[in-house]
Amino acid sequence: MTVRTRFAPSPTGLLHIGGVRTALFSWAYARKRQGVFVLRIEDTDLERSTPESVQAILDGMHWVGLDYDEGPFYQMQRMDRYKEVIQRMLADGTAYHCYCSREELDAMRAEAEARGEKPRYDRRWRPERGKTLPQPPAGVDPVVRFRNPLDGAVAWDDAVKGRIEIANEELDDLIIARPDGTPTYNFCVVVDDWDMAITHVIRGDDHVNNTPRQINILAALGAPLPVYGHLPMILNADGQKMSKRRDAVSVVDYSEQGILPEALLNYLARLGWGHGDDEFFTLGQFVDWFDLEQVSPSPSRFDRDKMLWINQQHMKAADDARLAALTLPFLARLGCDAGQGPALAEVIALLKERVTNLVDLAAQATYFYRHDAAPAELAAQHLGEESRARLGRFKDVLAAAEWNPEALSAAIKAFVAAEGVKMPLVGMPLRAAVCGTTQTPSIDKVLALLGRETVLARLTATLAG
Ligand code: GLU
Repeated sequence: MTVRTRFAPSPTGLLHIGGVRTALFSWAYARKRQGVFVLRIEDTDLERSTPESVQAILDGMHWVGLDYDEGPFYQMQRMDRYKEVIQRMLADGTAYHCYCSREELDAMRAEAEARGEKPRYDRRWRPERGKTLPQPPAGVDPVVRFRNPLDGAVAWDDAVKGRIEIANEELDDLIIARPDGTPTYNFCVVVDDWDMAITHVIRGDDHVNNTPRQINILAALGAPLPVYGHLPMILNADGQKMSKRRDAVSVVDYSEQGILPEALLNYLARLGWGHGDDEFFTLGQFVDWFDLEQVSPSPSRFDRDKMLWINQQHMKAADDARLAALTLPFLARLGCDAGQGPALAEVIALLKERVTNLVDLAAQATYFYRHDAAPAELAAQHLGEESRARLGRFKDVLAAAEWNPEALSAAIKAFVAAEGVKMPLVGMPLRAAVCGTTQTPSIDKVLALLGRETVLARLTATLAG
């Protein structure tokens, strides 16, 4: 049997990280078993679905690098198929027309509530042996209801949550088509999972209530039942459900924060799943290790510091040329032209261990492409009269120095000795004058990368200022 999984987002907003984790687990499950991963866009909610959201899903999937083998399928393009299945169910008696008006349903609800019972449809249009149905009212378009079994229970072994059992008594005869004939949400999911031969439905546990209804409909259709695995929610640091208003929830937010896609996936994998103490791993390792059995049934909390730590590990491991390409747009936003200075990949090699994300990486790289004078406070601290005089003398040393990190390091040490001062009294003013900040890596390496001409020009400008 070929494993077939799917990711079935509703395009009603940006791609949420909870959705990405669902996609990741479904994807990894299929990849590990040489299976097939399907992308399906559940766009039947016409009021909330937008083409922009569809695009955001496709872009987000592309950005994180989760490739699908089939799809994207769009539910709106499958309407004829859903209607065909509904006709078949009406014909074989697993579904029926119901002509109840809104008022009748409201009255049923009020009566049930008055009796202290759960509001439910009283099945008045449900055909039964020996039962006489009411006469269909003229001019009313009926809904179609699923004929849910009356007795027994629906049970399944959830791959994450364990055995779940719901009494059929608890389930109403679900509306599967509206008066205008359009199919409803749960019904489309069922037909799709059946037609797409999905063997493992891995999704968020906000859908756990839909599962017994979907299983009953699949059974009525004579369709094979997939394995279901419901993933626990991701909570924010305060233990609340992640929300658009409070938290960074969309994939775009993370790319804007300079998080690498592989780091986001690594971090999301760790939310609700674990492999011993392993925190930092590649996507390939994750696929090798992943199984639904190790997914925790309880919700997990988003920990931003941990995500940044993981991002840092992935940045260290990443190729410098690739990091350079990814950092370029952030640098451009800071008004820096990476063409006007040392090769960005070399700058990144020097800086990347010092930061946790691409935004900070770009911020730290600015002085390689632009000379900002040290802020007043820093200048007051490091560029006083004595320091400036010393820098003037050091400028002459630099003018004649051999230009590579080792030679520059030796030149600085010799100068420090000749001046009879401690290293910081040369190093800090030099950084402040050349870089406009004292927060830099080893100054010999920085000078080497900047080049003699630039360094001398900056010193001249600072000393003239
Ligand atoms: N479209 C649903 C959602 O975005 C998922 C349905 C499913 O996975 O069965 O929440």
